Amino acid sequence: MPTIKSEAERCIKCKIPKCSKGCPVSTPIPEAFDLFLKSRLREAGEMLFNNNPLSAVCAIVCPHERNCTGNCVLAQKGHPVEFFKMEQYVSQFYLETYTPPEIKKNGKKIGVVGAGPAGITVSIILAQKGYLITLFEAMDSIGGTLRYGIPEFRLPNSILDFYKNILDSLGVKFRPNTRIGTNINAEDMFLDGYSAIFVATGTQRPNRLGLLGETLGHVHFAIDYLKSPDTYRLGKKVAIIGAGNVAIDAARTAIRKEDADVTILHFMSEDDMTANKADIEMALIDGVRFYHNCQAIRITDDTVKCVRVEKSVSEDGSVSFVEDIRSTFDVKAHSVIIAIGQGPGADVVSGGSVTVTQKGLFQVDEFSRTSQQGVFAAGDVVTGPKTVVEAVAFAKIAANTIDEYCQGLPWINDFKHPSARL
Ligand SMILES: Cc1cc2nc3c(=O)[nH]c(=O)nc-3n(C[C@H](O)[C@H](O)[C@H](O)COP(=O)(O)OP(=O)(O)OC[C@H]3O[C@@H](n4cnc5c(N)ncnc54)[C@H](O)[C@@H]3O)c2cc1C
Repeated sequence: MPTIKSEAERCIKCKIPKCSKGCPVSTPIPEAFDLFLKSRLREAGEMLFNNNPLSAVCAIVCPHERNCTGNCVLAQKGHPVEFFKMEQYVSQFYLETYTPPEIKKNGKKIGVVGAGPAGITVSIILAQKGYLITLFEAMDSIGGTLRYGIPEFRLPNSILDFYKNILDSLGVKFRPNTRIGTNINAEDMFLDGYSAIFVATGTQRPNRLGLLGETLGHVHFAIDYLKSPDTYRLGKKVAIIGAGNVAIDAARTAIRKEDADVTILHFMSEDDMTANKADIEMALIDGVRFYHNCQAIRITDDTVKCVRVEKSVSEDGSVSFVEDIRSTFDVKAHSVIIAIGQGPGADVVSGGSVTVTQKGLFQVDEFSRTSQQGVFAAGDVVTGPKTVVEAVAFAKIAANTIDEYCQGLPWINDFKHPSARL
């Protein structure tokens, strides 16, 4: 049976490791394996943490088949090295034994808005550099989507408690239950002497379907449901509309919390679903039923009315879905959960002083500068919904820019209006 050690021994230490190249934070995988095999766990953990403060989380939730594992050269022979198991072991060890470095405070205050992966990353990096960080969070605890989205059975909240301890030990001041943009905003923070503000508020507003029935009492949005599933009584038959990871997480949670009979329905084909294949596989094992190529057209008190759709690809390659109006059918549902994506919430900077895209996403340049001097942004609030590791990668760029901005490096003040980044 493969063990963590036997996996480490299988790594052939490529000169140009494709696994690292395939990782958005370029994790130094062969070096980490090397230290691990020499039993230098703390050094391995420190290296991974310094490169990616959320390595312990990414080891669990990253789409490894797209990043490290998927790019391992041994994949061609059918058996790629599974780095993430060792990463999880070493990173957890590091969190459990973490001791903060000696830090000389530089007296400069930074406000970080949003305590998800991007906010936590910037807080840790800049606190370690000596900045005085205040982390503002609308919810009562840190984690963002890690706590209020990804279900516990996939990512235990206990990991986030380690991060809270680390932030405390680095002197980060945490303001829970504080939604910036309601009574206080970025301008107030500048008046209070903050040198820079980092916005990482993610995408917390669920997209709506625009169908009749969406306001009925048994209809919920998946990202709201996943925030506190224990407060819901869904009933035995649950229909979930959507084809992504959030739909899958909502389905698997409903099965666990209510022993519900869960159906996912969506207009795409099975192959076109955006959810990770591994998670779809597990959802099937858990007992989730799928209706592919099926468009919801109306929600009633006890059904979702659907119509079959067919994918059509035109000569220029554009894809559309054609409804077959002769094939309508009803899916029985005591509850309906909508999971068709999400967008950013209200602007945390008043008066439209920061340029946003049509979808309300913050527009930044490649250094994460917004159109307002001193305000930086990264993570999902810029890119739209992506992954944890991508939020971390982007937040690292932001932390570096904020540091240089606060040091008054000349290039940073050569400020240009940002063009759309992604
Ligand atoms: C259900 C679900 C499952 C997912 N599964 C995976 C997975 O398996 N693997 C993976 O890599 N990615 C996954 N993702 C995506 C991943 O979680 C996100 O890409 C990542 O969390 C984005 O990080 P962020 O810091 O930009 O934003 P978020 O994690 O969304 O954090 C933003 C934080 O800002 C706070 N906030 C918002 N507005 C304000 C305000 N005005 N004032 C103060 N605070 C505010 C929010 O409360 C939140 O805590 C999943 C997402 C969801 C929704």
